[in-house]
Amino acid sequence: MKTLTIKDAEVAVDEVPILSNISLTLLPGETHWLMGPNGSGKSTLANALAGHPKYTLKAKDIRLGDRSLTEMSVHNRAQEGLFLSLQYPPALEGVTVTNLLKNAYNARFHTDVSVLEFRNILKAAMEELELPQDFTSRYVHAGFSGGEKKRLEMLQLRILEPEVAILDEPDSGLDVDGLKMLADQLRYIQQRTGMGILIITHYTQLLEYLEPNYVHVLKSGQLIQSGDQELARRIQREGYGSLS
Ligand code: ADP
Ligand code: MG
Repeated sequence: MKTLTIKDAEVAVDEVPILSNISLTLLPGETHWLMGPNGSGKSTLANALAGHPKYTLKAKDIRLGDRSLTEMSVHNRAQEGLFLSLQYPPALEGVTVTNLLKNAYNARFHTDVSVLEFRNILKAAMEELELPQDFTSRYVHAGFSGGEKKRLEMLQLRILEPEVAILDEPDSGLDVDGLKMLADQLRYIQQRTGMGILIITHYTQLLEYLEPNYVHVLKSGQLIQSGDQELARRIQREGYGSLS
């Protein structure tokens, strides 16, 4: 599995600097949380890592495994195992879940499985994640509830087995049962694959279900503090205002 290495990264949007001095190392099998108040730059970092064309990413060193991220196209980053789940995933009318996943699977694993072969792969994954079979014939995210969107993303993780999964506020819009299921499935997939997970969140409810190895706090575009779960608990008790 691959390590995500970020050293002294900065990100600008349309030449306006948003983030600076960002460093973190996410090892295989680790779960890190990136926390911070609204507008602190969390999604900006996620988008820049994934290669969104609006965001300019520069760094002293930024790698997925031994490959420099900034030299890789968006497609290439995904193919090499960088996965980004969006806070508000767009609906893809006309694209079925099966179709999206089959194409992504073939690209990720440099293969060309048929629809029939892929059905079996998908069926096994869906049984493991306890998803209803009619899920696959629906259009991607179209009319999905918040909980269903997250379950579809867990299915993507299970099928695509990324090296590093960046999840932008996966807890938003989930009820307690949804949170618990999300945490269980993430843990299951991580144990199976050894992927590193970077969870972006400004809430701390997930703490009860999914313990991070490290917590990083972003404020006004800078990483102001890193620590363990105790840092998240402090934020839970005292808010971001207590950190400087
Ligand atoms: P967070 O995810 O922590 O709430 P964001 O990364 O969305 O914060 O935003 C951080 C700052 O960057 C905000 O001031 C926001 O307006 C700005 N920003 C982010 N993306 C863009 C963009 N595409 N165009 C203009 N400004 C942006
Ligand atoms: Mg955001």
